[in-house]
Amino acid sequence: MPNKVLVVEDEANLLVALEYNLKSEGYNVFTAEDGETGLALARQEKPDLVILDVMLPNLDGFEVCRILRRESDVRILMLTARGEEIDRVVGLELGADDYVTKPFSNRELMARVRNMIRRSDSDDGASASTDAETLASGDLIVDLTGHTVKLQDKPLDVKPREFSLLALLVANKGRAFTRDQILERLWGHDYIGDTRTVDVHIRWLREKIEPDPASPQRITTIRGVGYRFDG
Ligand code: CA
Repeated sequence: MPNKVLVVEDEANLLVALEYNLKSEGYNVFTAEDGETGLALARQEKPDLVILDVMLPNLDGFEVCRILRRESDVRILMLTARGEEIDRVVGLELGADDYVTKPFSNRELMARVRNMIRRSDSDDGASASTDAETLASGDLIVDLTGHTVKLQDKPLDVKPREFSLLALLVANKGRAFTRDQILERLWGHDYIGDTRTVDVHIRWLREKIEPDPASPQRITTIRGVGYRFDG
């Protein structure tokens, strides 16, 4: 079964080019030119990846992202305008997994798409595995098989990327990772991104696992280096 990709983009030329290029790569492609149609298609077709422009008629990309994220863990790649730093940060805070800044090359975009689809496939593989493996640190339990996290026996709502980040840190307790190392491990080596992506995800995790996120005890910031899980 080819992976399904939904593209929501209101610039007709770009939409046609994206559709053509994605089809050439063997994806099953669905397209929409406004946010409302995009959202309806996402619900109907349950794609593996949504490529979502920010500026869209009807519902904008942020709104579509926010709604989709409440309903599913589908991978979301946002298309942002050049220099719109705020778009990237807002997009990531709303739960987008990645973003590409316009204008982008077809090669760059396809690399990103392949990377994201590969990750979502391997996530599925991990959940289907029967080898139970758990990482525990005090009252924090990370279940690598079920992709779940419990704190004081209560399940936490963590997104797939947050889960991978937490699992990486807990599995390497006491070891400091640079932001670049974390980006490479979690987002792939061809990710051309911004290390603040890592900071945003660390902040979300802290809000979930730290008794006082303002003075973190579990995930510590190592000045000039990055982050370390301390227990
Ligand atoms: Ca647009």
